[in-house]
This record gives sequence, C-alpha cells and structure tokens, in this order.
Amino acid sequence: MQTLKQYVESNYHKSLGECSKEEVYVALLHYTKEKSAALPLNEGKKKVYYISAEFLIGKLLSNNLINLGIYDEVKEELEAEGHTLAEIEEIELEPSLGNGGLGRLAACFLDSIATLGLAGDGVGLNYHFGLFEQKFKDNQQNAVPNNWLTPDSWLVPTSVSYEVPFANFTLKSKMFNIDVLGYEQSHKNQLHLFDVDTIDESLVHDDSIAFDKTKIAENLTLFLYPDDSDEQGELLRIYQQYFMVSNGAQLLLDEAVAKGSNLHDLAEYATVQINDTHPSMVIPELIRLLGERGIEFDEAVEIVRSMTAYTNHTILAEALEKWPLHYLEQVVPHLVPIIKELDARVRAQFDDASVAIIDEHNRVHMANMDIHYGYSVNGVAALHTEILKQSELKNFYEIYPEKFNNKTNGITFRRWLLHANPELAKLLDRTIGKEYRHDATKLEALKAHTHDLEFQEALKGIKRNNKLRLKHFLQEHQGVTVKEDSIFDVQIKRMHEYKRQQMNALYVIYKYLDIKNGNIPAKPITIIFGGKAAPAYVIAQDIIHLILCLSELIANDPEVSPHLQVVMVENYNVTAATHLIPAADISEQISLASKEASGTGNMKFMLNGALTLGTLDGANVEIHELVGDENIYVFGEDSDTVIKHYENSDYHSHSYYEREAIRPLVDFIVSDALVSLGNRERLERLFNELINKDWFMTLLDLEDYIQTKERMLVDYHDRENWIAKVITNIAMAGFFSSDRTIEDYNRDIWKLN
Ligand SMILES: *Cc1c(COP(=O)(O)O)cnc(C)c1O
Repeated sequence: MQTLKQYVESNYHKSLGECSKEEVYVALLHYTKEKSAALPLNEGKKKVYYISAEFLIGKLLSNNLINLGIYDEVKEELEAEGHTLAEIEEIELEPSLGNGGLGRLAACFLDSIATLGLAGDGVGLNYHFGLFEQKFKDNQQNAVPNNWLTPDSWLVPTSVSYEVPFANFTLKSKMFNIDVLGYEQSHKNQLHLFDVDTIDESLVHDDSIAFDKTKIAENLTLFLYPDDSDEQGELLRIYQQYFMVSNGAQLLLDEAVAKGSNLHDLAEYATVQINDTHPSMVIPELIRLLGERGIEFDEAVEIVRSMTAYTNHTILAEALEKWPLHYLEQVVPHLVPIIKELDARVRAQFDDASVAIIDEHNRVHMANMDIHYGYSVNGVAALHTEILKQSELKNFYEIYPEKFNNKTNGITFRRWLLHANPELAKLLDRTIGKEYRHDATKLEALKAHTHDLEFQEALKGIKRNNKLRLKHFLQEHQGVTVKEDSIFDVQIKRMHEYKRQQMNALYVIYKYLDIKNGNIPAKPITIIFGGKAAPAYVIAQDIIHLILCLSELIANDPEVSPHLQVVMVENYNVTAATHLIPAADISEQISLASKEASGTGNMKFMLNGALTLGTLDGANVEIHELVGDENIYVFGEDSDTVIKHYENSDYHSHSYYEREAIRPLVDFIVSDALVSLGNRERLERLFNELINKDWFMTLLDLEDYIQTKERMLVDYHDRENWIAKVITNIAMAGFFSSDRTIEDYNRDIWKLN
C-alpha cells in the first residue's frame, strides 16, 4: 500500500515537504478519495434511502482519515515533513448543505449506518451556495452566498441522470456522490446529491443572496432554503423538493429492479425515511412512477404505504409545511390528482377534518399525508414523542397507535469525540480501554473514576488545552481574544425565539449591572453565543443585534470587561462547533419546555465534559434521568405547565415585566447606553415583543434561570465536585451515540437484512 509520501512523490513529482499547504491538502483529498473509492458498497437485499433537504456533514478530511484507520499514520507522515494536520485541515472548506440540528442528525446517521455495516444511502441536493454565510457588520447579521463548492471537493461525478417533469418543462439531473465511510469498516455507503445540469452560478452576484427566482432551470440548486417570503420563493422550494424526491424515487426503483424486484415486492428492496416534511412528495411520486411502470393505483398505494416512514422534528405548528394546492398545480400538476385521491380516501374513512390532507383552505398538509400513507411516525426524544401522541398528533395517534414510535436522537462519537476532542479520547483509552469506541455504553466504566484525583487533574488539563485551542480559533476566525482562565458558558444553535437566546442576553444584562454594582465574580466569565438567523426572521436578527451590542458595550467598559466577556461567533457551523464544544464548561439548553424536539447540541456538550444548564425539554429530560438531579442544573416550568398556559392563554409577559427583579433588565434593552451602539428600531421592536407578547415565555423562567446560573457559577469553584459531575456526564453519554439510535431505527422501522 502506498503511503501519502509515496503517493505525493509519484503523482506530483516532489516531496511532501516541498508542497505548499494547499498542495498537501489537494493531494491528501485525492489520496483519501482513492482509498475510499476502492471500498465496496454495503449490499443487502433491502436498502434504506434517507431523504433529507439537509446534510450538515462538516469537513470530511479528518473524519475520513479516522474512519479509514489512517489518521495517526498520516498525521505522523505530515509532521515528519514539516506540516501539521490541523493546518492542512484549515484549507478544507466546510460543505454548506445544512442549516441546523436536523441536517446534522442526517450526517450523524449516515456515519452510523455505515459504521453498522447497513445498506443505506442519503439522498439530497447539491446546493452550490449552500445556506448563506453569516457576516457581522454594524452589529447586525449580513447574509452572503457561501462559496464552498471548489473544483477539488469530495464530490464524485457520476453518469446517473434522470428526467424530472414539471408543469411546463422537464429538467435533467446529474447525480454526484460523496462516499460515506464507517468507522474501521471494509464497506462504505454513499450520499447522493442531485444537481441540475443547466444550473447557472452567474445568477448570483454582488455578494448577495438575492437572485432571479423565476429561472428554475438555472437556479434550482443554488441555495438551501432560498428566501420564501414571497410567492416566487415558495414556488422555488416546491420545485426543489420535487426535484429531490423524483430523483430519489427513480434511483430507488432502478436499484430495486437491478437487484431483482418485480415492483410488486418493492418493499422488500427499499424503505424510505422521510426526514421532516420536505421530502413528503416522495409518496405521490412513487405512486405515480409505479403507475407508469404498470402497477394499479390501489396496489401502488399499498406498496408505498409499506415502505415509507416519517420522522417528525418539531411541534411548532408554523414549521409543518402546508402547501397551497394551486402552487402544486403550477409546479407539479401531475401529482395533484394523486394527492386529491389520497385525500378523498382519508375523508371517506375518517369523519374528522383535522386528519384530512387537503384542508378547507385548499392547503396540502404534508405531514398528514406522511402519517396516513407511511408505516411509521417517529418523534426524536421521549418527551417529544409523548407530546406528539398526547397533543399535537393526538387525532392521528388514536387512529394509528401502532405507527407511532420514539427514536431518541444521537450523535456520532467519531466526529464529536475522536475528532473534536482527541486528547479526551486518548485519556479515555488509557483509563477504561478502547472498547467504548465500538460500544459507547462502555463509557459507564468511568463511574468508578468520578473522584479519582489523578483522572480529574488530567481532565482539567484537557479542558484548559481545549480553551487555548478555542482561543486561537477565535483569534484567527474573528480577531477576538478570550481568557483561557475564565468560565466558558456556551449557547450555540440556530437563532430562534423558542431557543431563548434572548433569555441568556437578559442574564448578560443582569451580570453587567451586578458587576457595575460592585459584585465582582470570583473568576471571569466568558459567555459565547453562535447561530444564524433566517434572513426573513426579523426578531431573530434583532436578538443577534442585542447580543452584538452587549458584546461591544462590555468590551469597552473597563470596570466590567476584566470580569465578563460576551462573544458572538460569526458564521456558526460544524467546524466552529468542534472547537467550541470541547472548551465549554456550561452547556446552555434553555428552550421553552415542550418546544425543542430533542436537541443534539446538548449531547455533544455532555460527552465533552460540560454541565447542562437546561429546562426539562427534548433530550434534556433523558440526560436528567441518566445523570440524576445532582449532575445537571434544571430550571423553569415543565412542559405540562407550559402547554396549559397555551391552552388557557393565561401567560401575560407584562405581569412578569412589572417585577422588580425583571423590569430593569428588560428596560436596559432600550437604554441610551445600548441604543447609542446600535439600531433603535431593532432594539425597540425586541423590547416591545418581550413586554407585549413574548410568545416563548422568556420572562416566565427568567428569575429561576438567573438564580440557577448563579448557583452553577458558585459550584464551579468546588473543583472536585464539579469534575465529578463532569465525569458522571461523560460516563452516561453512551446512550446518545447515533449508533444506538440507528440500531433502534433498524430494529423497529427499516428491518434491513
Ligand atoms: C449539533 C449542531 C446543531 C444542533 O444544535 P442544537 O443545540 O441541538 O440546536 C446545529 N448546528 C450545528 C453546526 C451543530 O453541530
């Protein structure tokens, strides 16, 4: 086998040491791609097609080296010739094919499906400019195109191409693959990304994410989630969704037939996991394609019903897609009679308008179609699935109790431990052996070490090193200097009112005023935020603005800045997450109870030795059950109470605002000090939102939040007990391996053979 050194010498006719960093990166990319190209595919009679609008895969170089089992070898070869792998990795651009947790989940699942040796591929789109890139200017978010797709990338072009029919034209697709390697596996899977061969990148210019939304053949795969605040934008999303699922369905049918399916038995060859509602049109599309291939309608419906499964990711009603029927008539008129027939059958069977597919306003409820015409509906954490069954989807649960099941989310430990925190992984190897790398539940052996002072010292050293690593990252990334000897409190996730970054910002105000009053913290605190706001989501942008203004105010205040620093990380993505999470002491998981379906950030922090400050929401509930009251900081109203507030409409933020402890904090948002640094309109809008509406009940939990965080900061100084809690968290994190999640999906839903 050729080493990297030999590969470079024979292909580039110079030594590794003579190559620039860019040249080493390109050589290593091709070296790794050739190694994975040589691996055979996982084969089985049945394959799962994981269809998703997003795959937030992150940089692939290090992870592929880890999974190929050549990470250490390559690292040493590079070092022997004067390079470091960390520097080479920096050259790689992060693929911008996802937005948040849902896309990251899809990426973790692909890693685990391959690691378990299952036959399962991802199906998605190849967005040339991805999700926008976030840049800060004047304390506000600017959205610019993300130019991640360079000539040398992980994509492998194929000759696979399909015709996708729309109302007035047909588009030809082109399929690209990215190899998906399992951890130390001899076989691989693939992520199939479909593109349009007529795409025109020149529609995007001037560093703007605006473009001509009517030129579908030229724009279809330019952006993930193009602005849909107007009709053209909504139509474009339907074009994208149909293009994705039609390609996926045609691929699935071809592969099944090639393996010997007569189509009547299609469900023995393929199963489709519908990740959120974006791929829902795969149901009518499969029925249509089966019809074209000679299957009667009734039978086609039953075949599709036995091979499609739906994952629900949210109970925010506004996030469940409902497309106006006339949009579908404009874009995919050939699906409309099928959808109408599916709806008519539901209406004939159930005398309940709430479970219909097409409502009285002629809107198509995509989730409802998935539930009636698929065989499985799953939520993504125990609490979330209970809420689906007991309230959001109660009427469906009563009809189909057997379809509902829970699959608590997970994360791949290859990326979130071995890659993100190699020093911790090595310490774990030394302390409990390497078995946990293949069976994460073996981490429980750490429980015997909770008060092992030598192990505790080693953990403290690693946390400090990770803080230093983050310090360098933030210096390089945005010229901010943080203090490695401060307490790192981290809230990184998409910006959304339900995630309540605004509550953390009110804590910042509390702490600022407290320090101004002479209460100096025993140790400096660094509060780090990161997250993008959807360009059309005004209040989320206002929250970013508040955080950036607070950051500037504090940085410029010599009384406060030695003790408190606020950093908003620009363009939060997987790369940033792998630097931020291993450095964190406090994991902020403070969504309004009942609103966060699962969260996966919470799991990454737990695994990397941060303690959770959280509400009893999503998978925080399961973290709490695993580690016990002593090892997590829980606050706030529980989900039952919150749901009752919504039912009774009896939460009025103004009555909380009037409390002595709260009013000055909220008023500070529109103080002269802040307004002089920012934009009055944004700050006033946010202020008014909080006192008059506050739909996600920030003020309800604010006092408890502040008190709990203060208690946590005091507890931090009892180092031995804090680290003991950290160890308990790491020990119990094995449940959140996505290997466990995928074993659950396979056992209960996919049943791959
Ligand atoms: C894990 C992850 C998320 C999801 O975070 P939550 O806290 O669960 O919302 C979002 N973005 C990136 C880059 C991630 O790595």
